[in-house]
Amino acid sequence: MNRIATLLPAVALLFSSCKFAYRDRDADLVVHNARICTLDGQNTQQTAMAIKDGRILELGPEFQILNRYRAKRTYDAGAKAVYPGFIDGHCHFLGYGLNKQKVNLAGAKSWGEVLRRVSAYADAHPGSGWVLGRGWDQNLWPGKAFPDNDSLNLLFPNRPVLLQRVDGHAAIVNRKAMDLAGLTAASTIAGGLLEKRNGKLTGLLLDNAVSVFQKIFDDADEPAKREALLAAQHDCLSAGLTMVCDAGLDAGTLALLKRMQADGSLKIRVYAMLADDSANFRQYAGGPYIGDRLIVRAVKCYADGALGSRGALLIKPYSDDAAAGHGLQLATRDHFLDVARWCKAHGFQMATHCIGDSANRLLLGVYGEVLGGTNDLRWRIEHAQCMDPADFKFFGQYNIIPSMQPTHATSDMRWAVDRLGPERIVNAYALKRLMLQNGMIALGTDFPVEATDPLKTFYAAVVRKNADGMPPEGFQMADALGREHALRGMTTWNALATFTEKDLGSLEAGKLADFTVVDRDLLTVGGNLLPGAQVVATFINGEQVAGR
Ligand SMILES: [Zn+2]
Repeated sequence: MNRIATLLPAVALLFSSCKFAYRDRDADLVVHNARICTLDGQNTQQTAMAIKDGRILELGPEFQILNRYRAKRTYDAGAKAVYPGFIDGHCHFLGYGLNKQKVNLAGAKSWGEVLRRVSAYADAHPGSGWVLGRGWDQNLWPGKAFPDNDSLNLLFPNRPVLLQRVDGHAAIVNRKAMDLAGLTAASTIAGGLLEKRNGKLTGLLLDNAVSVFQKIFDDADEPAKREALLAAQHDCLSAGLTMVCDAGLDAGTLALLKRMQADGSLKIRVYAMLADDSANFRQYAGGPYIGDRLIVRAVKCYADGALGSRGALLIKPYSDDAAAGHGLQLATRDHFLDVARWCKAHGFQMATHCIGDSANRLLLGVYGEVLGGTNDLRWRIEHAQCMDPADFKFFGQYNIIPSMQPTHATSDMRWAVDRLGPERIVNAYALKRLMLQNGMIALGTDFPVEATDPLKTFYAAVVRKNADGMPPEGFQMADALGREHALRGMTTWNALATFTEKDLGSLEAGKLADFTVVDRDLLTVGGNLLPGAQVVATFINGEQVAGR
């Protein structure tokens, strides 16, 4: 094409825009010199947008937007990519923040390293109070065996110690902690396990046995909680997140978040799921709460535990440990039915943690019984990790949203095959097959189980390799997502999964101006350039909340 021909459309647009006087409209912010990936229905690309009162007025070519608007502020995106604000579909926002006040055991390469970190923390925080830590993962240690509390009992004879595994579904406690909780070798806990060896407790707890100590683990006064929420917010905004879905909060924390919303300190949007607890249900019997930065309209239940600690509920026993049997069911079917009926009657979305194929089958059955058929209630299965192939169809049949965490696949793949065996593993972490059921999927990280970084979610969904580039051919690539679908899973479809699609999830005139600037084009750069991608800036309601 010659030069004149390439200029023609631009000239035509210039004339067509002449019916507007130069800069006759007001905007608070004009973003220009940008590669805006709008993720509207056609995934239109634009180079500029004007924003006023927190909403997008118009998107278009740079000259058109710059000529039309008198802006209080301009943001030159430096030819970088702009996406709808990233949403984490499933995380533990408060828990992540509170963990920053505890011993960080993430990445510890041995039980010895765990003990060294705990001792250093205890020395720095002397006294007789609880020593709390989180993040250990025995799969990273030589031998991969669960720890016992022998060394903890020697190191801390008089001070209670509670160390949660990275997924929060297992913990190790010392004898002092057991004594304070009144646990003995004769104790039993439904839906939980107190490990015993030669008739003696080892201090290892699974699922509902971990829950015995959850109040102690979560215990924080209001200043500590506020500090935790602000620290979590800082990290999330820096990572490019504009909304987080917290998978399980109590009414007290929600009251604090409402106060932080009112005083302006809550910048990030929080879509909160109520923890499965009758006290929370009583507080929200009037129905969902929809605020500017806080929405409460979901309920979070747990069907089973986690695969790493063999608490996930499986149809057939574990492949690598017959003693673990089928795993753990954390509540009765009747309980889940009661919660489902309460949700339907009170206008709440039900969201249930289901890892094992048996847990998924159980809850799909409960959902189906209460939903009855096609609906727009958008109930969710969190994780949907190991599926029996016969059960995929229920997601479509009852319009159930799969809410999945692509980095779980790349973190678990080294040992998940041991737990499940070669036949079952091919139906685990099935992002694409589940996405196809309703034409959508909600993506998240489950942080602090994984890192907060949404770009890691994108990489794991599309390339299906870990940070070391393993495996070279990608993990079970038949269930990888295409790049646009992965982006929609972090934006458009997370908006649908939170009933916020009128305001969020794409960049279109009339929607809220939540967007994230990234240093490269995620839709087109080579796969080898994806791991280095960086968030440059984050905006919520047109206000820059992180970056440069
Ligand atoms: Zn979770």
